[in-house]
Amino acid sequence: MIQSVAFIGLGAMGYRMASHLPKHFDTVYVWNRNFDKAKQHAIEYGTQAVELSQAVQADVIFSCLPTSADVEALIETLNIKSGAIWVDCTSGVPTSAQKLAELLKIQNIDFLDAPVSGQTIGAETATLTVMIGGDTEAFERALPAVQAFGKLIKHVGASGAGFAVKAVNNMLMAVNLCAATEGLSTLKAHGVNLNEALDCINASSGKSNATETILPQRVMNRTFPLSFALPLLAKDTGIAVDLVRQAKLSAPIIGLTQSLIQVANDTAESNSDFSSVVKMYETWSKITIE
Ligand code: NDP
Repeated sequence: MIQSVAFIGLGAMGYRMASHLPKHFDTVYVWNRNFDKAKQHAIEYGTQAVELSQAVQADVIFSCLPTSADVEALIETLNIKSGAIWVDCTSGVPTSAQKLAELLKIQNIDFLDAPVSGQTIGAETATLTVMIGGDTEAFERALPAVQAFGKLIKHVGASGAGFAVKAVNNMLMAVNLCAATEGLSTLKAHGVNLNEALDCINASSGKSNATETILPQRVMNRTFPLSFALPLLAKDTGIAVDLVRQAKLSAPIIGLTQSLIQVANDTAESNSDFSSVVKMYETWSKITIE
């Protein structure tokens, strides 16, 4: 039985994910580096803003930070409750999950890598997809807490498997975004109306999340709203490329896409949304996707 839960890292995702926990659990601790956000969360959702040392006394401890390096640095400093389960919702590095799972097991703490997909809207509506790697028994014990914000929740394998699935998923999204941008630039160069073209593609076999959602909702309307930062996508595609290298596979599309995302990230203005990858293409082609 889970008596208490905690959420560490109230960013674009974490703030919204943690908002659902008080509907299911009486004791919900929250902590954020900028502590004002934790205090605000407590006022808004009835959670308890506490010191980090208290947050890690919960039965289930969620984290959602930018990188695995951030999670490792935090865990190193902590005295976590014996018997707790640490559920890391960061989009992280598989080898880091394996390392943390081994390290924490010695202290009788389970570590699950549990990255999420569905963007901030999915966090808000508790409809996230959660891909979980780690011990099966720990997965089953943590499941009622994950269900507070997850809709499709899958145990995808041993430690690191969740992070691997997430990295490949985001790589596929990046591949589709680059390909769709190249396709639409070509159509515009040939004088085609892009709104009409997207309607056709989205009822045809060339459709993807890029054509159905990213281009219409972020690019064509020229809003590029910041909800998933471009450096976070570059981090994810980097993890995917490392997985390819470790498996000694040849994956030219993945390699090329990683290079494109890297250049987009290096040349973007600070605080750019991931959809700003399109702006790199627009600079090269002098064709605007609108
Ligand atoms: P944000 O940048 O919005 O939030 C990051 C959070 O981590 C903030 O609470 C920040 O605290 C905290 N933080 C950053 N560095 C540290 C540190 N060194 N020590 C302690 N706390 C730290 O990121 P997101 O919420 O967008 O993303 C979080 C994770 O979720 C990433 O791994 C991302 O790839 C993934 N993700 C994001 C999605 C999205 O649509 N945004 C969708 C799916 C996954 P502070 O407020 O003090 O800066």
